[in-house]
Amino acid sequence: DAMNPTASPIRRLVIVGGGTAGWMVAAGLAKCLGRQYEIRLVESEEIGTVGVGEATIPTLHFLHEILDLDEKEFIQATQATFKLGIRFENWRDVDQHYFHSFGHTGKGHWTAGFHHFWLEGRKRGLASDYGDYCLELRAALDNRFALLPDGGLNYAYHFDATLYGQYLRRFSEGLGVQRLEGKIVQVHTQGGEGGPGDITGLTLDSGVRVDGDFFIDCTGMRSLLLGQTLGVGYESWSQWLPCDSALAVQTASVGEPVPYTRSIAHPWGWQWRIPLQHRVGNGVVFSSRHVSEDEAKAALLANVQGEVLREPRVIKFTPGQRDVVWRRNVVAIGLASGFLEPLESTSIHLIQKGLTRLIELFPAEGICQTDIDEYNRQARESIEHIRDFIILHYHVTQRSDSAFWRQCRDMDVPAFLQHRIQLFRDSARFAPVAGDLFAENSWVQVMLGQGLQPRSHHPITRQMDNPALGDFLGGIRKDVARAVMKLPRHQQFIQQFCPAPRPAAAAEPPVLRLNPQ
Ligand code: FAD
Repeated sequence: DAMNPTASPIRRLVIVGGGTAGWMVAAGLAKCLGRQYEIRLVESEEIGTVGVGEATIPTLHFLHEILDLDEKEFIQATQATFKLGIRFENWRDVDQHYFHSFGHTGKGHWTAGFHHFWLEGRKRGLASDYGDYCLELRAALDNRFALLPDGGLNYAYHFDATLYGQYLRRFSEGLGVQRLEGKIVQVHTQGGEGGPGDITGLTLDSGVRVDGDFFIDCTGMRSLLLGQTLGVGYESWSQWLPCDSALAVQTASVGEPVPYTRSIAHPWGWQWRIPLQHRVGNGVVFSSRHVSEDEAKAALLANVQGEVLREPRVIKFTPGQRDVVWRRNVVAIGLASGFLEPLESTSIHLIQKGLTRLIELFPAEGICQTDIDEYNRQARESIEHIRDFIILHYHVTQRSDSAFWRQCRDMDVPAFLQHRIQLFRDSARFAPVAGDLFAENSWVQVMLGQGLQPRSHHPITRQMDNPALGDFLGGIRKDVARAVMKLPRHQQFIQQFCPAPRPAAAAEPPVLRLNPQ
């Protein structure tokens, strides 16, 4: 019964699934708790992984610190490049672009963020582009990068998702995680009142049985344990996020990798471009109600450079989250728990949060319902704020060239997001939320970038006369420009610090040859 904690202590952990989620969880649990628990991971090569998920955000450094990974070794093992943010092209309107960078823009005051001073400066003709006051942004657009001390440049990575999984697998096995290959054909549960009780074990197609006390469901969108076996429902957010399909394709690199992700809007969705050291990840995310799969595929292939290394694959999804992500002795992490489209590269971050939250709330003396409730509360709060931030990109747009964009612009959005947008529109103020992944600088960059124009800004900015405000803004802009000039080119930095070997040629020849350049 759900109200009674399982009295028995936990000894055997079973991670079900060996995608990015499964191996991140294996690595983290083995590193932090591996001396006390037996950890096994089951995966099926025949089923395989989703095989996408290559752009990250800077929070990943925290996981790598926990695991004590060597940065250079990790980069070389995963063909990684550096990422300073995302360039949003055609989002505000066709042919209008903006950048959402990591790091900070300018310097604020306790009364008001930097953008208030910038707005005042612009009114008086003293300010240039908002991005000129951000080092990460200028460095990205100049194609420069270096590792600077003391967080001098905030960055994340682009990497090969499959290689990342293999890297974490070696790491986890080195710490004693036992991997079992096989397809799960049956899930065993205790009898419960009015439904299945705790999960006791799994039977693989080989006949092998894997028993455990605690299960982490990392089976991807199938959600084999939490969704299928325990029957936990799924809350869809498609009323706010109309895209329900993706097509992904890899191409060979034709030029130097840029240190940012590109997100290019189309009349029915958007396209990503993620450069690795020797290849590029591309894909489109689209609404199947607004464009056919064939048309989306044609638009994708018309918009990539270099040899296409594999036929595009279609992936169907429903944006949303399971009603709860922890029930009984099962916690779902990764795609098994829910899905938000990769617009702000947040899925790997959510896996990491699921993992660190699990370690923080790990059952002390058997499973306890208040721990479960707290886990579910935190999980919901963090994904809902990210969801709202993604909805913002669609909703605040000046595009009206297609039914898709008109629908996004005219839709009702969640109440708290509506408040955040209206507050910014009225007074340029930002509504902070404790623990929110995206802080003021992210929201401001996207709100301004998508074309929101605040009607007013804080009066503190008028305490400065023209020379004072001009010096303040000019000083920051010059510091940024000077710092950018000292940075090497991104490609040159990789070449010197962490060049990865060119991967062995694929067994099959490239299937298509398009847009050579
Ligand atoms: P999967 O990779 O699907 O792994 C599931 C595992 O479960 C596999 O090992 C499978 O074999 C196993 N399994 C399932 N059923 C069984 C069974 N019956 N028996 C045995 N084993 C089983 N995230 C980002 O952070 N950045 C991005 O840029 C990004 N881009 C994305 C683009 C797209 C189009 C999509 C769809 C997702 C993207 N994501 C991105 C999300 C990211 O891909 C996932 O969060 C990540 O790959 C984790 O997937 P997973 O491990 O949960 O699932």
